[in-house]
Amino acid sequence: MNNKIARFLADNAPATPCLVVDLDVVGQAYDVLTRYLSVANVYYAVKANPAPEIVTMLAQRGSNFDVASLGEIELCLGNGATPDRISFGNTIKKERDIAYAYAAGVRLFAFDSEPELQKLARVAPGARVFCRILVSCEGAEWPLSRKFGCDPAMAVDLLAKARDLGLDPYGVSFHVGSQQTDLGQWDKAIGVVARMFTLLAETDINLRMVNIGGGFPAQYRGKISNVAQYAQAVTDALTKHFGNQLPDVIVEPGRSLVGDSGVIQSEVILISDKGDGADKRWVYLDVGKFNGLAETMDESIRYRIEAPARQGAPRPVIIAGPTCDSADILYEKTEYRLPGDLQVGDKVEILSTGAYTASYASVGFNGFPPLRTYCI
Ligand SMILES: *Cc1c(COP(=O)(O)O)cnc(C)c1O
Repeated sequence: MNNKIARFLADNAPATPCLVVDLDVVGQAYDVLTRYLSVANVYYAVKANPAPEIVTMLAQRGSNFDVASLGEIELCLGNGATPDRISFGNTIKKERDIAYAYAAGVRLFAFDSEPELQKLARVAPGARVFCRILVSCEGAEWPLSRKFGCDPAMAVDLLAKARDLGLDPYGVSFHVGSQQTDLGQWDKAIGVVARMFTLLAETDINLRMVNIGGGFPAQYRGKISNVAQYAQAVTDALTKHFGNQLPDVIVEPGRSLVGDSGVIQSEVILISDKGDGADKRWVYLDVGKFNGLAETMDESIRYRIEAPARQGAPRPVIIAGPTCDSADILYEKTEYRLPGDLQVGDKVEILSTGAYTASYASVGFNGFPPLRTYCI
């Protein structure tokens, strides 16, 4: 936890649980990414953290925005973005929402199926469209496969069809899966995209854009490569497959821009055992799967957790949330240790929680309010 967040927590003692986001850290992450991946235009994936302060700050820095809904479009337009800087990247949209976005001036849309393409043709004539292809997502800690994208051969047919329908077939997108730890995944996907460019050029359709999605990591428990290494892998892959004629490149970071900027402070509600002789104690926090830590589902995302007030020897624990749903266990299989002298009422800090936490919190399951965010 950095000094700025520590000082905020010490000075204000906000009610827990809460998420504190350091906007300077988000700004730095944006600057570092644009420095190393200078070939790409950044479209911040708003769903990662839709705090208006984050959108405002990134808009001022020149970021574009990847949105999934009318709510996110309005959020961006209301906080400094212009419609030409918005990509409606969800492949699953209501036709009336496409029409609304088009009326608001949005001209860039994703699709991955013929029925969605037909909707776009009907209510967003002439818009730039890109087709999302399926990729395996191997190596990703939070995969996004299966639900999105279509086979590249189908995507080629659909992009040809897009032109016939009066749309502008702009390019191809993919997402290698979130928190992707294998840098080779971008090379594979970009190779597939380059072959699609070649195939379509034969029918005189000249695609101009490759959207490499998100997937860059935040610093959870595992070791990760740094942004420079990710950017290098992507740049090398683009050069290898496209040579000197690089297309427009879009990158849609969510997790890597905001993840490391946030700390959730929570409080220990109960420490207990089950009387079954197991050596693992249960530690129940006031934050859980339903008020911010949804990505602990299947123990996929393994946050760093600290109890700074205690120095006792670490003991193995099962960590659970406060609700009356038995799914609200954060870590049971994954080994976690907390100080043996941990007490009820102690503060526990969950690090790198700036992404996919507040935006995933339920509106009030069991009467627990959604996670409060402080942007400082
Ligand atoms: C969620 C999402 C992203 C962000 O992915 P991260 O792995 O968080 O960077 C990017 N693009 C699309 C289309 C998304 O749905």
